[in-house]
Amino acid sequence: MNILIVGAGGFIGSHLCEAILDRHSDWNITAMDISSAKIGHLIGQDRFNFVQSDILKDFDLMEDSVKNCDVVFPLAAIASPLVYVQDPLRIFELDFEANLRIVRLAIKYKKRVIFPSTSEVYGMCNDEEFDEENSSCVTGPICKQRWIYSCSKQMMDRVIYAAGNKYDLHYTLFRPFNWIGPRLDDITNPNNGSSRVVTQFLSNILHGKNLNLVDGGSQVRCFTYISDGIDALIKIVENKNNCADKQIFNIGNPYNELSIKDLAYKIKGLASEYEKLKENASKVEIVVTSSSDYYGKSYQDVNRRVPSIKRAESILGWKPVVNMDDLLTKTMDFYFK
Ligand code: NAD
Repeated sequence: MNILIVGAGGFIGSHLCEAILDRHSDWNITAMDISSAKIGHLIGQDRFNFVQSDILKDFDLMEDSVKNCDVVFPLAAIASPLVYVQDPLRIFELDFEANLRIVRLAIKYKKRVIFPSTSEVYGMCNDEEFDEENSSCVTGPICKQRWIYSCSKQMMDRVIYAAGNKYDLHYTLFRPFNWIGPRLDDITNPNNGSSRVVTQFLSNILHGKNLNLVDGGSQVRCFTYISDGIDALIKIVENKNNCADKQIFNIGNPYNELSIKDLAYKIKGLASEYEKLKENASKVEIVVTSSSDYYGKSYQDVNRRVPSIKRAESILGWKPVVNMDDLLTKTMDFYFK
Protein backbone atom coordinates (compact mmCIF):
# COMPACT_ATOMS: atom_id res chain seq x y z
CA MET A 1 0.00 0.00 0.00
CA ASN A 2 1.26 3.49 -0.87
CA ILE A 3 0.38 6.06 1.75
CA LEU A 4 0.65 9.79 1.09
CA ILE A 5 0.99 11.83 4.28
CA VAL A 6 0.69 15.56 3.72
CA GLY A 7 1.95 17.45 6.77
CA ALA A 8 4.05 14.38 7.64
CA GLY A 9 6.61 16.60 9.34
CA GLY A 10 4.24 17.58 12.11
CA PHE A 11 3.51 16.06 15.51
CA ILE A 12 0.95 13.46 14.39
CA GLY A 13 2.56 12.90 10.99
CA SER A 14 6.00 12.16 12.41
CA HIS A 15 4.64 9.56 14.86
CA LEU A 16 2.44 8.04 12.17
CA CYS A 17 5.43 7.66 9.83
CA GLU A 18 7.48 5.94 12.56
CA ALA A 19 4.65 3.53 13.41
CA ILE A 20 4.04 2.59 9.77
CA LEU A 21 7.73 1.91 9.15
CA ASP A 22 7.93 -0.17 12.36
CA ARG A 23 4.79 -2.22 11.95
CA HIS A 24 3.96 -2.66 8.26
CA SER A 25 6.81 -3.77 6.01
CA ASP A 26 4.54 -3.70 2.95
CA TRP A 27 3.42 -0.07 3.34
CA ASN A 28 5.33 2.73 1.59
CA ILE A 29 5.20 6.36 2.67
CA THR A 30 5.42 9.53 0.64
CA ALA A 31 5.88 12.21 3.29
CA MET A 32 5.17 15.80 2.18
CA ASP A 33 5.84 18.88 4.28
CA ILE A 34 7.50 22.25 4.14
CA SER A 35 9.78 21.11 6.96
CA SER A 36 11.57 17.85 7.75
CA ALA A 37 12.74 18.92 11.22
CA LYS A 38 10.74 16.22 13.06
CA ILE A 39 11.29 13.43 10.51
CA GLY A 40 14.96 13.97 9.62
CA HIS A 41 15.78 10.69 11.40
CA LEU A 42 13.57 8.78 8.93
CA ILE A 43 15.03 10.18 5.73
CA GLY A 44 17.09 7.52 3.96
CA GLN A 45 15.07 4.58 5.32
CA ASP A 46 13.55 2.11 2.87
CA ARG A 47 9.88 2.72 2.10
CA PHE A 48 10.15 6.35 3.18
CA ASN A 49 10.26 9.15 0.64
CA PHE A 50 10.34 12.74 1.91
CA VAL A 51 9.19 15.39 -0.54
CA GLN A 52 9.67 18.98 0.53
CA SER A 53 6.64 20.83 -0.72
CA ASP A 54 4.29 23.70 0.05
CA ILE A 55 0.70 22.65 -0.52
CA LEU A 56 -0.31 26.25 -1.06
CA LYS A 57 1.90 26.35 -4.19
CA ASP A 58 2.90 22.96 -5.56
CA PHE A 59 -0.38 21.95 -7.20
CA ASP A 60 1.01 19.73 -9.99
CA LEU A 61 3.19 17.83 -7.54
CA MET A 62 0.17 17.27 -5.31
CA GLU A 63 -1.91 15.98 -8.21
CA ASP A 64 0.80 13.46 -9.18
CA SER A 65 1.25 12.40 -5.58
CA VAL A 66 -2.46 11.75 -5.00
CA LYS A 67 -2.70 9.92 -8.33
CA ASN A 68 0.12 7.58 -7.28
CA CYS A 69 -1.08 6.74 -3.76
CA ASP A 70 -3.71 4.39 -2.37
CA VAL A 71 -4.52 6.36 0.78
CA VAL A 72 -3.99 10.03 1.57
CA PHE A 73 -3.75 11.69 5.00
CA PRO A 74 -4.17 15.48 4.57
CA LEU A 75 -2.63 16.47 7.92
CA ALA A 76 -1.20 19.90 7.03
CA ALA A 77 -2.98 22.60 9.00
CA ILE A 78 -2.45 25.34 11.53
CA ALA A 79 -3.94 24.35 14.88
CA SER A 80 -2.99 27.32 17.05
CA PRO A 81 -5.69 29.41 18.81
CA LEU A 82 -3.51 32.51 18.62
CA VAL A 83 -3.49 32.29 14.81
CA TYR A 84 -7.28 31.67 14.76
CA VAL A 85 -7.79 35.13 16.29
CA GLN A 86 -4.84 37.00 14.73
CA ASP A 87 -4.91 35.68 11.16
CA PRO A 88 -8.13 33.75 10.55
CA LEU A 89 -7.78 33.92 6.75
CA ARG A 90 -4.55 31.89 6.96
CA ILE A 91 -6.55 29.19 8.73
CA PHE A 92 -9.23 29.26 6.03
CA GLU A 93 -6.66 29.14 3.20
CA LEU A 94 -4.65 26.25 4.61
CA ASP A 95 -7.01 24.22 6.79
CA PHE A 96 -9.95 24.52 4.39
CA GLU A 97 -9.01 25.59 0.85
CA ALA A 98 -5.73 23.69 0.51
CA ASN A 99 -7.18 20.55 2.05
CA LEU A 100 -10.28 20.79 -0.11
CA ARG A 101 -8.01 20.65 -3.19
CA ILE A 102 -6.55 17.38 -1.89
CA VAL A 103 -10.01 15.93 -1.25
CA ARG A 104 -11.11 16.90 -4.77
CA LEU A 105 -8.08 15.01 -6.15
CA ALA A 106 -9.00 12.00 -4.04
CA ILE A 107 -12.49 12.10 -5.56
CA LYS A 108 -11.04 12.46 -9.08
CA TYR A 109 -8.60 9.55 -8.72
CA LYS A 110 -10.82 7.42 -6.45
CA LYS A 111 -8.41 7.31 -3.50
CA ARG A 112 -9.14 6.74 0.15
CA VAL A 113 -8.94 9.82 2.42
CA ILE A 114 -8.24 9.69 6.15
CA PHE A 115 -8.92 13.21 7.35
CA PRO A 116 -8.11 14.84 10.70
CA SER A 117 -11.25 16.50 11.91
CA THR A 118 -11.04 17.81 15.50
CA SER A 119 -12.77 17.83 18.86
CA GLU A 120 -13.16 21.59 18.15
CA VAL A 121 -15.98 20.88 15.66
CA TYR A 122 -18.28 20.22 18.64
CA GLY A 123 -17.48 23.76 19.84
CA MET A 124 -19.53 24.82 22.86
CA CYS A 125 -21.77 21.75 22.77
CA ASN A 126 -23.14 21.03 26.27
CA ASP A 127 -23.41 17.24 25.94
CA GLU A 128 -21.82 15.21 28.74
CA GLU A 129 -19.92 13.26 26.11
CA PHE A 130 -19.58 14.28 22.47
CA ASP A 131 -21.12 11.75 20.13
CA GLU A 132 -20.09 11.62 16.47
CA GLU A 133 -23.60 11.01 15.15
CA ASN A 134 -25.81 12.94 17.56
CA SER A 135 -23.97 15.85 19.17
CA SER A 136 -24.47 19.34 17.75
CA CYS A 137 -21.60 21.50 16.54
CA VAL A 138 -22.05 24.83 18.38
CA THR A 139 -19.99 27.87 17.48
CA GLY A 140 -20.14 31.52 18.55
CA PRO A 141 -20.80 34.78 16.71
CA ILE A 142 -18.73 35.86 13.71
CA CYS A 143 -16.85 38.49 15.74
CA LYS A 144 -15.39 35.62 17.78
CA GLN A 145 -12.85 34.82 15.09
CA ARG A 146 -11.46 31.82 16.95
CA TRP A 147 -14.26 29.70 15.46
CA ILE A 148 -12.70 29.88 11.98
CA TYR A 149 -10.73 26.70 12.75
CA SER A 150 -13.76 24.80 13.99
CA CYS A 151 -15.83 25.99 10.99
CA SER A 152 -13.08 25.18 8.47
CA LYS A 153 -12.78 21.66 9.84
CA GLN A 154 -16.54 21.24 10.09
CA MET A 155 -16.97 22.28 6.45
CA MET A 156 -14.28 19.77 5.44
CA ASP A 157 -16.16 17.08 7.38
CA ARG A 158 -19.41 18.00 5.67
CA VAL A 159 -17.84 18.09 2.18
CA ILE A 160 -16.12 14.74 2.71
CA TYR A 161 -19.29 13.15 4.09
CA ALA A 162 -21.33 14.47 1.14
CA ALA A 163 -18.69 13.28 -1.35
CA GLY A 164 -18.94 9.84 0.24
CA ASN A 165 -22.63 9.80 -0.65
CA LYS A 166 -22.44 11.49 -4.04
CA TYR A 167 -19.15 10.16 -5.48
CA ASP A 168 -18.62 7.10 -3.31
CA LEU A 169 -15.48 8.72 -1.84
CA HIS A 170 -13.96 6.26 0.63
CA TYR A 171 -13.12 8.25 3.74
CA THR A 172 -12.58 8.09 7.47
CA LEU A 173 -12.83 11.20 9.65
CA PHE A 174 -10.95 11.02 12.95
CA ARG A 175 -11.32 13.60 15.70
CA PRO A 176 -8.28 13.90 17.98
CA PHE A 177 -8.98 15.12 21.52
CA ASN A 178 -5.82 16.90 22.75
CA TRP A 179 -3.16 14.44 21.64
CA ILE A 180 0.03 14.98 23.60
CA GLY A 181 3.54 13.55 23.45
CA PRO A 182 7.12 13.98 22.29
CA ARG A 183 7.65 16.49 19.44
CA LEU A 184 4.27 18.15 20.11
CA ASP A 185 5.63 21.70 19.79
CA ASP A 186 8.90 23.60 19.85
CA ILE A 187 9.27 24.53 23.51
CA THR A 188 12.28 26.75 22.86
CA ASN A 189 9.89 29.46 21.61
CA PRO A 190 9.22 31.50 24.77
CA ASN A 191 6.16 33.40 23.45
CA ASN A 192 2.79 32.93 25.10
CA GLY A 193 0.30 31.36 22.70
CA SER A 194 3.00 29.76 20.53
CA SER A 195 2.27 26.20 21.73
CA ARG A 196 -0.55 23.90 22.79
CA VAL A 197 -1.31 23.95 26.51
CA VAL A 198 0.98 21.21 27.85
CA THR A 199 3.98 22.36 25.85
CA GLN A 200 3.14 25.99 26.62
CA PHE A 201 3.35 25.28 30.36
CA LEU A 202 6.62 23.36 29.88
CA SER A 203 8.06 26.17 27.80
CA ASN A 204 7.03 28.75 30.40
CA ILE A 205 8.75 26.85 33.20
CA LEU A 206 11.87 26.37 31.03
CA HIS A 207 11.99 30.13 30.43
CA GLY A 208 11.11 31.06 34.03
CA LYS A 209 7.75 32.56 33.10
CA ASN A 210 4.49 32.26 35.04
CA LEU A 211 1.87 29.73 33.92
CA ASN A 212 -1.27 31.52 32.74
CA LEU A 213 -4.71 30.18 33.55
CA VAL A 214 -6.83 31.77 30.84
CA ASP A 215 -10.17 32.87 32.38
CA GLY A 216 -9.35 30.90 35.54
CA GLY A 217 -8.41 27.55 34.00
CA SER A 218 -11.63 25.74 34.90
CA GLN A 219 -11.91 24.47 31.31
CA VAL A 220 -11.80 20.68 31.15
CA ARG A 221 -9.97 18.71 28.48
CA CYS A 222 -9.29 15.02 27.90
CA PHE A 223 -5.63 14.41 27.15
CA THR A 224 -4.64 11.52 24.90
CA TYR A 225 -1.16 10.09 24.56
CA ILE A 226 0.15 10.10 21.01
CA SER A 227 0.83 6.33 20.89
CA ASP A 228 -2.85 5.67 21.68
CA GLY A 229 -3.90 8.01 18.88
CA ILE A 230 -1.47 6.41 16.44
CA ASP A 231 -2.76 2.91 17.32
CA ALA A 232 -6.20 4.08 16.24
CA LEU A 233 -4.84 5.53 12.98
CA ILE A 234 -3.07 2.28 12.12
CA LYS A 235 -6.32 0.37 12.67
CA ILE A 236 -8.08 2.86 10.41
CA VAL A 237 -5.51 2.33 7.63
CA GLU A 238 -5.71 -1.46 8.09
CA ASN A 239 -9.49 -1.12 7.68
CA LYS A 240 -10.30 -4.77 8.49
CA ASN A 241 -13.51 -5.81 6.69
CA ASN A 242 -13.83 -2.16 5.58
CA CYS A 243 -14.81 -1.33 9.16
CA ALA A 244 -13.48 2.25 8.97
CA ASP A 245 -15.08 3.06 5.63
CA LYS A 246 -17.28 6.17 5.67
CA GLN A 247 -17.02 6.42 9.45
CA ILE A 248 -16.33 9.22 11.92
CA PHE A 249 -14.38 8.40 15.09
CA ASN A 250 -13.63 10.43 18.20
CA ILE A 251 -10.10 9.47 19.19
CA GLY A 252 -9.60 10.67 22.73
CA ASN A 253 -9.11 9.47 26.28
CA PRO A 254 -12.21 10.19 28.42
CA TYR A 255 -10.40 8.77 31.49
CA ASN A 256 -7.76 11.54 31.34
CA GLU A 257 -10.20 14.36 32.09
CA LEU A 258 -8.50 17.29 33.79
CA SER A 259 -9.06 21.01 34.22
CA ILE A 260 -6.36 23.34 32.89
CA LYS A 261 -5.83 24.58 36.45
CA ASP A 262 -5.19 21.05 37.73
CA LEU A 263 -2.94 20.44 34.74
CA ALA A 264 -0.85 23.51 35.61
CA TYR A 265 -0.35 22.35 39.22
CA LYS A 266 0.45 18.79 38.09
CA ILE A 267 3.06 19.97 35.59
CA LYS A 268 4.61 22.42 38.06
CA GLY A 269 4.86 19.61 40.64
CA LEU A 270 6.40 17.16 38.18
CA ALA A 271 8.82 19.81 36.90
CA SER A 272 10.57 19.87 40.28
CA GLU A 273 11.80 16.33 39.52
CA TYR A 274 13.71 17.43 36.40
CA GLU A 275 17.19 18.91 36.76
CA LYS A 276 16.63 21.30 33.84
CA LEU A 277 13.40 22.66 35.34
CA LYS A 278 13.56 22.38 39.11
CA GLU A 279 15.04 25.79 39.87
CA ASN A 280 12.49 27.64 37.71
CA ALA A 281 9.65 25.36 38.89
CA SER A 282 10.11 26.66 42.43
CA LYS A 283 9.99 30.27 41.23
CA VAL A 284 7.23 30.44 38.62
CA GLU A 285 3.68 31.13 39.73
CA ILE A 286 0.34 29.98 38.44
CA VAL A 287 -1.61 33.15 37.64
CA VAL A 288 -5.06 33.95 36.30
CA THR A 289 -5.38 36.02 33.14
CA SER A 290 -8.30 37.00 30.92
CA SER A 291 -8.75 35.48 27.48
CA SER A 292 -8.95 38.96 25.94
CA ASP A 293 -5.54 39.84 27.43
CA TYR A 294 -4.04 36.50 26.43
CA TYR A 295 -5.57 35.83 23.00
CA GLY A 296 -7.42 39.06 22.12
CA LYS A 297 -11.09 40.04 22.11
CA SER A 298 -12.18 37.60 19.42
CA TYR A 299 -11.44 34.55 21.56
CA GLN A 300 -14.12 32.41 23.15
CA ASP A 301 -13.54 29.18 25.05
CA VAL A 302 -15.01 25.72 25.33
CA ASN A 303 -15.78 24.75 28.94
CA ARG A 304 -15.73 21.00 28.80
CA ARG A 305 -14.77 18.56 26.09
CA VAL A 306 -15.16 14.82 26.67
CA PRO A 307 -15.40 12.27 23.85
CA SER A 308 -17.66 9.29 23.62
CA ILE A 309 -15.35 6.59 22.27
CA LYS A 310 -18.01 3.90 21.97
CA ARG A 311 -17.76 3.88 18.18
CA ALA A 312 -13.97 3.58 18.12
CA GLU A 313 -14.17 0.79 20.74
CA SER A 314 -16.86 -1.25 19.06
CA ILE A 315 -16.02 -0.68 15.38
CA LEU A 316 -12.21 -0.39 15.44
CA GLY A 317 -11.57 -2.43 18.59
CA TRP A 318 -9.51 0.50 19.95
CA LYS A 319 -9.16 1.82 23.49
CA PRO A 320 -6.67 4.30 24.97
CA VAL A 321 -4.32 2.83 27.57
CA VAL A 322 -1.92 5.60 28.70
CA ASN A 323 -3.05 7.41 31.86
CA MET A 324 -2.51 11.09 32.63
CA ASP A 325 0.57 10.68 34.85
CA ASP A 326 2.34 8.45 32.34
CA LEU A 327 1.39 10.77 29.50
CA LEU A 328 3.02 13.74 31.25
CA THR A 329 6.08 11.80 32.39
CA LYS A 330 6.74 10.35 28.94
CA THR A 331 6.35 13.78 27.35
CA MET A 332 8.54 15.54 29.91
CA ASP A 333 11.20 12.81 29.72
CA PHE A 334 11.42 13.45 25.99
CA TYR A 335 11.94 17.19 26.41
CA PHE A 336 14.07 17.26 29.57
CA LYS A 337 16.00 13.99 30.06
P1 NAD B 1 1.37 20.11 13.43
O1 NAD B 1 1.25 21.60 13.41
O2 NAD B 1 2.35 19.49 14.34
O3 NAD B 1 1.70 19.59 11.96
C1 NAD B 1 1.21 20.22 10.79
C2 NAD B 1 2.27 20.09 9.72
O4 NAD B 1 1.77 20.72 8.54
C3 NAD B 1 3.59 20.77 10.08
O5 NAD B 1 4.67 19.88 9.97
C4 NAD B 1 3.71 21.88 9.05
O6 NAD B 1 5.04 22.13 8.62
C5 NAD B 1 2.86 21.33 7.90
N1 NAD B 1 2.42 22.40 7.01
C6 NAD B 1 1.90 23.61 7.38
N2 NAD B 1 1.70 24.36 6.28
C7 NAD B 1 2.08 23.61 5.22
C8 NAD B 1 2.12 23.85 3.83
N3 NAD B 1 1.71 25.00 3.29
N4 NAD B 1 2.58 22.86 3.01
C9 NAD B 1 3.02 21.69 3.54
N5 NAD B 1 3.00 21.40 4.86
C10 NAD B 1 2.55 22.37 5.68
O7 NAD B 1 -0.10 19.55 13.69
P2 NAD B 1 -0.52 18.11 14.24
O8 NAD B 1 -0.74 18.21 15.71
O9 NAD B 1 0.40 17.07 13.71
O10 NAD B 1 -1.96 17.97 13.59
C11 NAD B 1 -2.16 17.30 12.34
C12 NAD B 1 -3.63 17.47 11.95
O11 NAD B 1 -4.46 16.96 13.01
C13 NAD B 1 -4.06 18.92 11.72
O12 NAD B 1 -4.99 18.96 10.67
C14 NAD B 1 -4.74 19.30 13.02
O13 NAD B 1 -5.69 20.32 12.80
C15 NAD B 1 -5.38 17.97 13.41
N6 NAD B 1 -5.63 17.89 14.86
C16 NAD B 1 -4.62 17.70 15.75
C17 NAD B 1 -4.91 17.61 17.11
C18 NAD B 1 -3.85 17.33 18.14
O14 NAD B 1 -4.23 17.04 19.30
N7 NAD B 1 -2.56 17.34 17.82
C19 NAD B 1 -6.22 17.77 17.56
C20 NAD B 1 -7.22 17.96 16.62
C21 NAD B 1 -6.92 18.01 15.26
